[in-house]
Amino acid sequence: MSTSEFEPGSLEQSLAQVSPTVEPLIEPMAHLSPAQIEEIYKRYFSGERTGDLIREFDIKTNLSSLLKLFPLVSRADLTCPYCSSPATQRRRAKLGQIPLPACTGCAHVYETFDGRCGCEGCRHAFINKSNGEGLKGRIPYADLTIREKIILLSALTMENDLGRTSFSIYQLQKHDPKFAPTPAFHAHCQNELFARKIILISEETTHSSLELCRMHEFTDFLLWRPNVSASDETGKPLEIDLLRICLWNEFSEIKTDYGAALIELMYELAIEELMEYLAHMVSLSSVNFKAWAAARSALKSLLPSKSISEIFGFIWGAVKGAEKAIGRKNINGAAHAGNLIPSNIIQAAEAFEARPPKQGHREFFRLSHIKPSQISNTIYKLILGDKDGAFKIPLPRYISEVMRPTLEGITTAKAAKAFFEQ
Ligand SMILES: [Zn+2]
Ligand SMILES: [Zn+2]
Repeated sequence: MSTSEFEPGSLEQSLAQVSPTVEPLIEPMAHLSPAQIEEIYKRYFSGERTGDLIREFDIKTNLSSLLKLFPLVSRADLTCPYCSSPATQRRRAKLGQIPLPACTGCAHVYETFDGRCGCEGCRHAFINKSNGEGLKGRIPYADLTIREKIILLSALTMENDLGRTSFSIYQLQKHDPKFAPTPAFHAHCQNELFARKIILISEETTHSSLELCRMHEFTDFLLWRPNVSASDETGKPLEIDLLRICLWNEFSEIKTDYGAALIELMYELAIEELMEYLAHMVSLSSVNFKAWAAARSALKSLLPSKSISEIFGFIWGAVKGAEKAIGRKNINGAAHAGNLIPSNIIQAAEAFEARPPKQGHREFFRLSHIKPSQISNTIYKLILGDKDGAFKIPLPRYISEVMRPTLEGITTAKAAKAFFEQ
């Protein structure tokens, strides 16, 4: 019989079926036969007064409740999947839920719903199932792509303590950079590493963090461990500190073949930074904004010709314009006003094109609490030596005039920028 068949209301029948034996008696009921105990339980459960039962069966107790005195019900039908011990079950109180059967050998608790207890066996079973194929072999360092190396190094840099065997990709300190600009891109990059089994869920992850992952797909509080070896699949995984040093060393030398991976990530980061800024601006406004997909494609269309700083300005103006529109005769409420934002952004860009402001005029900066992300720092600060380098320069121009000559070793990013900013 499975635990799921153990429905409330049928406890008496169920107990009769599954429990020919009971656990050794505790003292006040030691003089009673198993049949008498079952009779007392049935009468207690049907509502007879406890005091009457205590007197009738000569039970010597000061307790006001009989429930604690009943022996546990043996669940011989259940064998622990982790330690093979039998299970027992407390009896149900008159007004209570059916207690869950529990293993007598370890902390495992059987559940009536599709849940898991927090015992070590269940914790490891869930981690092993999630890590799946990754447990069979390591990913050799040489098999990592440049993109994977950049994302992995960014993830490993989130952990500041040395000597750790697991790391978190979650921003622990408020002043530290986030892994990625938006939660969606964070999940995207994290999943890229996990799907390739470059990182695995660490056995050090707590039960509650695993529950958030299992029940709500919330992965921020998971701890990870690298699954990358120096040599082949059978090699030992490299420790966090050593792997980080390998990656740092590799990127301390710039190579032209980084170009494709850098460009791809630069564009992805740029659009995410714009979406992050937009989300921030609408959260401060009275506009009810839902047109995320339309806004994303409007912002994307501007990236070939405008810098992030300039587009921040368009977003700022677009949200302010939408806010002003609320209450206007032809605009019906905050939701309609929100729908204006994507076209407001494009109009602001067209106006800018028609009448470009003077150099430095209406230049937008990053908000002090929304800093460049860790992935951005790996690309611009670590690899190109130019922290947040493309913020004020349209990406195609940054790529051809700064990134490429830097990767080719012709110049440094700073010198390249100084040249065309003259
Ligand atoms: Zn057990
Ligand atoms: Zn368990």
